[in-house]
Amino acid sequence: MEIIFASNNLNKIREINNILGSSFTLLSLQDLNLTEDIPENEKTLEGNALYKARYIFKATGKNVFSDDTGLEVEALNGRPGVHSARFAGENKNSEANIEKLLSLLENEANRNARFRTVIALILEGKEYVFEGTVMGKIIKYRRGKQGFGYDPVFMPDGKSVTFAEMDLKEKNLISHRARAFEKLRHFLLGLQKADN
Ligand code: IMP
Repeated sequence: MEIIFASNNLNKIREINNILGSSFTLLSLQDLNLTEDIPENEKTLEGNALYKARYIFKATGKNVFSDDTGLEVEALNGRPGVHSARFAGENKNSEANIEKLLSLLENEANRNARFRTVIALILEGKEYVFEGTVMGKIIKYRRGKQGFGYDPVFMPDGKSVTFAEMDLKEKNLISHRARAFEKLRHFLLGLQKADN
């Protein structure tokens, strides 16, 4: 089955290709010569994911999915959430984002947080949404050099290391993104079985 992943992030596309396996031919936006930046101006992760999928479906008429992820911190009423990438400014600087997060939580005892990934799929014109989450805590100081974004300050519940202290394989066993894409894979494989 051919399906578009509405993303320009080649690392992500490679990673998801790996999760979905060889029954699916994943097309990137570059493969389709769609180089424009799709706006992410909606107020929720669901809104952004659906907007991107609908945008590409309108342009191509092909099966498509897109994702959006945010870090939701309990003491900040779910912020930075949909604004995670641009929390400290338009230039999407992870260091500045972490700095802002740690300073907002400086005197805060409640460090509970979760990462949440939402995937919107449009298949044969029908819309579906999948979600993956991982619960954890925001620690006070950075730990670890791997990963990206908020990984150095996010310690998943039940672990004594941050995401930035795990290798990708270990992170992918429990990560929000891996959990959401596993749900997508299950759904798509189920459909294929029903077709055969
Ligand atoms: P995106 O929707 O996957 O582009 O993610 C939006 C933002 O959320 C990123 O720019 C990061 O700041 C943050 N983020 C998403 N996934 C992760 C992760 O696995 N670790 C750390 N930060 C993440």
